[in-house]
Amino acid sequence: MEHAGTFVEPVIQQVHMPAGMAGPVELSFDVRCFLVGLPDGLVLIDAGPAGSAGEIGAALERIGAHWSDVTDVVLTHSHPDHVGGLGEVTARMPGARIWAGAADCPQIPSAVPLQPLSDDDRVRELRIISTPGHTKGHISVLHEGEGLLFVGDAVGTMSGSLVRAAAQFTADAAEAERSLRRLSELAPARMLFSHGPEVADPVAELRRLLDGADGN
Ligand SMILES: [Zn+2]
Repeated sequence: MEHAGTFVEPVIQQVHMPAGMAGPVELSFDVRCFLVGLPDGLVLIDAGPAGSAGEIGAALERIGAHWSDVTDVVLTHSHPDHVGGLGEVTARMPGARIWAGAADCPQIPSAVPLQPLSDDDRVRELRIISTPGHTKGHISVLHEGEGLLFVGDAVGTMSGSLVRAAAQFTADAAEAERSLRRLSELAPARMLFSHGPEVADPVAELRRLLDGADGN
C-alpha cells in the first residue's frame, strides 16, 4: 500500500428500493462502508449492499491496495445494506477474518465462519463498542488514538443534522437510545455514519438530538 499510518477511505454507494420492497414508498439513500488502514492491517467496516464489490475494489485501487491486503472485515450489524455484499467480498479475500456482534452473527448469511464480538473486544487496535437497539448485536467501532468512531446505523445524518435510524428498521428504540448516550460519552473527534456524510461537531449534534428527545 502507498499509505503509511492510519487512514480512512469511505466507499459510498446509492441504494434504490422501489415501492413495496421495504415499505409502501420508494426509498433512495446512501450507504457507506469504510476501509481503515492501520499500521498492521487493513480493515473493511461493513460489506455494503449486494453488488458492492466493484465500488470497494475501486476504493482499494484509490489507496493503492489489493483485495489480499484486507486483513479483517467488521460488520456493524446484520441488515442487508451492510452485509449483502459479504459473499462477493469474502470470495475475493479468503484470508480475511470476518467479525460481527455475537447476537447478530446468526442473522448474517456467510460462507465463511463469523468471529463473534462482544463489548470491549479488539480487532487489532480498534475497540468494539456494543451498541444494541437498531439490532440486538449492533456494534460501533472506535479508534481511540485517532478519535474515530464508526457508528453503523446507531445514528445517521441528513442535511447536516444527526437523525435516528427509521423506526421501522429499529428493533428496540429504548435500547438504541441508551446506546446513543453511550456513544456521546465517548466524545470522538469524528463520527463516521453508514448513512449520511460527516458533520463538523458530531458530539454536540448528538447531544442536541438526545436533549431534544428528553424535551429539555
Ligand atoms: Zn440497519
